[in-house]
Amino acid sequence: MEIKFCKVCQKQIHPLRVKMGYQTTCVDHSTASKYTGIVAAGSKNDFEVHVIKDPEVAKQLVELSNIY
Ligand SMILES: [Zn+2]
Repeated sequence: MEIKFCKVCQKQIHPLRVKMGYQTTCVDHSTASKYTGIVAAGSKNDFEVHVIKDPEVAKQLVELSNIY
């Protein structure tokens, strides 16, 4: 079992929380949802970073970008 500690207060994060994907913050310091950055290629040398607030949308985008 992995033991993780909150990056804010250094308290141990509940193992169940870690399993759910919250590996950096405890209950007190968690944000509502994980932010995912997506780097999308724009025109020619332009690169855009999209920050996706909705984890489900982010997951879908990551899956889509894995196709290439
Ligand atoms: Zn904390």
